[in-house]
Parts: sequence; C-alpha cells; structure tokens
Amino acid sequence: MKNISVVGSGTMGNGIAHTFAQFGYQVSLVDISDNVLSKAIETIDKNLDRQVTKGVLSKAEKAATLANITVFTDLGQGVANADLVVEAASENLDLKLKLFKDLDALTRPGTILASNTSSISITRIAGITQRGDKVIGMHFMNPVPVMKLVEVIRGYDTSDETAAAITDLSEKLGKYPVEVNDYPGFVANRILMPMINEAIYTLYEGVAGVREIDGVMKLGMAHPMGPLQLADFIGLDVCLAILKVLHEGFGNPKYAPCPLLVNMVSAGNKGVKSGEGFYSYTAGSTEATVSRKFTGKL
Ligand code: NAD
Repeated sequence: MKNISVVGSGTMGNGIAHTFAQFGYQVSLVDISDNVLSKAIETIDKNLDRQVTKGVLSKAEKAATLANITVFTDLGQGVANADLVVEAASENLDLKLKLFKDLDALTRPGTILASNTSSISITRIAGITQRGDKVIGMHFMNPVPVMKLVEVIRGYDTSDETAAAITDLSEKLGKYPVEVNDYPGFVANRILMPMINEAIYTLYEGVAGVREIDGVMKLGMAHPMGPLQLADFIGLDVCLAILKVLHEGFGNPKYAPCPLLVNMVSAGNKGVKSGEGFYSYTAGSTEATVSRKFTGKL
C-alpha cells in the first residue's frame, strides 16, 4: 500500500493524515471545504513543530511529511488512486452510510475501505457496499501521532486478508494493532464510555465537583487525565453519540447517557473543540480551568 486517502480532516482525520505522511505514504486528505482543510493543515504543521522541538523529527522530515499530503474537496478525485481509504468523518450513521456507498462506487474494486468510527457497526457500514470482505474498522486513538493503539475491527464479512493487511500496515506506522469483533463500542469505548458517563452522573448528582472527580481518578487510579477532561478532549458530542450506540445496540439502560451530557451538547458545549465543556479552554493557554458552570456548586 502506498496511496492512502483520509476522508474527514477534523480531530482524528488530520492526525491520521499526519501519521501516514510521516511514515512516507502519499496521503490525499478530503473534507467538505477549503477552509476546514486549511485549518487541518495548520494543525498538522503545529503538531509537526512540536515533534521537531521534542527531537522526534528533523526539520527536513517535517517538510517531507507536509509534502506527502494533498488536499481535496472532491471525494472522487481524493480517492481515485487510493489503495486504502480511512474514513474519519463525523460520527453519524447516515453520513457514513452515504460516504461508503459513494466510496464503493468511486474507488478501484481492490481498495480497502476502513472506518475510524468509535462505535458504529462495521457490518452495517459494509452492508451498503458490494465489498463486505474489504471493509474493516481501523480505530486510531487521539492524539493519533502519539497514541500507540489501533483497534482493528472485523465486520461479519471482513476477510482474513483484509484484517492481515490492516494489522501489518498499523505495525508499519509504529502502532500496536489489537483485533476485536464487531459489537457496539468494540472494546475501547465499551469500557471507556460507561466510566465517563458515570463520572458525569457523579457530577450531576452533586457527589463531587469537576476537579475532585478528575483528581480521584488521576491520583487514585493513576489515570493520566481525569474522565471529565478526557470527555472534553474526545468531544462531548462524540461521547454522546457513542453512548447512544451502546444504549441502542445492547438495549440496556445502564448505557443511557446522563441528562447533563445531553444538555451540554444541546447547548453547544462540546469540550475542547468548542472551547467550553467541563473545563474552559482559552486559545494558547496550557492550563484548563473548571467551567464557570461547575464552580461554586458544592
Ligand atoms: P470532528 O468533528 O473533529 O471531524 C469530523 C470531520 O468530518 C469534519 O472536519 C467535517 O467537516 C468532516 N466531514 C463531515 N462530512 C464529511 C463528508 N461528507 N466528507 C468529508 N468530510 C466530512 O470529528 P472527529 O473527532 O475527528 O471524529 C471523526 C471520526 O473518528 C468519528 O467517527 C469518531 O467517532 C472517530 N473517533 C474520534 C475520536 C476522538 O477522540 N475524537 C477517537 C477515535 C475515533
């Protein structure tokens, strides 16, 4: 595999494009507008600078990485030469079904179609295509250039060859692939999201404040980041979407999203990407402060 198309250039898509480009792959990065794509390239540039400062990459390697990325707003042009497409568009079933139907028509028959979805059924996505054997989950973690795990999700019809190709490719990116089967939330989010939801319930019921809840999990359980701040980093809208998939997929009330999370997303508070979640994030500041919505309540 040489030519990789990444569809969606948000939090995950720009990290996935960055990582493939860093390891010498030719990357076509596709999104819906030039404006969104310019922001993605700015983010990649900034993250590459951080790697240069840390001594992970040289300046020449940074330049080579950027040169390996071409941007497209036209899906057909962006995937025409792809050996692999990694879809990292918004976590929405209808959007992904539409995209995979189009990708099936626009790519060569041998192209593997992977989704970075956090929770949507790979089998359901594969069902809209004529190549279920070549559809697979390739679930990177945020931030992609740093995090080592790739959850490789086998849909009902995913072939051994496709799974082996994605496992091998993940290793070539210096990642640790872990193969799992296609059930709601797979492994990562089936375990992580109930913990985040419970942390939100703990806040909602007034058991403790934001700093206290995150402090318990950081200092007591050795988590590098508390669950509320992690939710802000993942995106509260993404967390809500995943919880809905778990709730609907298993039909078990234990996965019902906390009403506070629902309200925050309805109000447009999505965490880091909107500047406000459980914490407030001012551009340029390294320290997150507890959102004024959650101060002085206890
Ligand atoms: P995001 O909202 O940051 O970015 C989504 C991008 O998709 C946006 O730039 C949007 O313009 C683009 N998009 C929407 N429709 C499109 C279309 N038709 N064609 C091309 N691009 C389109 O979302 P994200 O957090 O990067 O999540 C992307 C995917 O990755 C989701 O499936 C999500 O579940 C998954 N994921 C997210 C995380 C995380 O921590 N945020 C971690 C792992 C996996």
